[in-house]
Amino acid sequence: MRIEFFGIRGTSPIAPRRGTIYGGHTPSALVRTAAGENLVVDAGTGLLPLEHALSGGTCTTFRPLHILLTHFHFDHVSGLPFFQTLYRKDADLRFYSNGTSDSLRWRLKAFMTGPYFPVEFESSSSRKEYRRVGPRPVDIGGVLVSTCPLNHPQGCGAYRIEENGRSVVFATDTEHYAEGVDARLAAFALGADVLIYDASYTPAEYAAGKKGWGHSTWPAGVELARAAGAGKLILSHLNPDHSDAKIKRLEAAARKVFPRSVFAREGLILRLEK
Ligand SMILES: [Zn+2]
Ligand SMILES: [Zn+2]
Repeated sequence: MRIEFFGIRGTSPIAPRRGTIYGGHTPSALVRTAAGENLVVDAGTGLLPLEHALSGGTCTTFRPLHILLTHFHFDHVSGLPFFQTLYRKDADLRFYSNGTSDSLRWRLKAFMTGPYFPVEFESSSSRKEYRRVGPRPVDIGGVLVSTCPLNHPQGCGAYRIEENGRSVVFATDTEHYAEGVDARLAAFALGADVLIYDASYTPAEYAAGKKGWGHSTWPAGVELARAAGAGKLILSHLNPDHSDAKIKRLEAAARKVFPRSVFAREGLILRLEK
């Protein structure tokens, strides 16, 4: 499979005056399977460049598009109302979350409605299905997908995607525990080739009043990656207040203690092949 990041910023998008090498869109990533199926993980504002990359603006026929939502906070769904594919009659969209299919449907319906948006989610033209993904792996587009609850206000689900013995874990929004690594998440991510982890705060920011906000730090990501035996650590959900220079410093610090770590950036592509 091939994983491409289109949005890596947590909380809110940014449009810095002098641009940014890491990017300003909120979370959305595209996983393309060996068989050519497309799975989208999260629908933040990164969904808009993702859609452009997927269709090139000219695509007229669609395979089913699988959209895996980690949770429903704005930074993870705010691209949806502006996703042109949602309005196409020939589009077959399959939404997934770790809640029931009814709650998934209701949440999307409640999120996109008047007076906040002129089109109701359910009256948009695409064909839609709503499915739950639990802890047991299910086949989605020929790859195995499972979820694990994360430590985040109102809940969030990590996704593990496996194909041909290779795997990636998306743990976008989660807070570490003072007592040590999240054992459930470490077990879920065991042996993953790639672990994508919430690095919203520096340890100093976390200590200065962000405890309980539901996000984590890069050193906690390193601890988790070690506990899980993950091959590569991608630190993501980047803080909108962190400049490129600051992220570069954090990245250098992380690489010193865990050389196989990198901070996510828009356009980053990872290939996991047999
Ligand atoms: Zn978030
Ligand atoms: Zn959140």
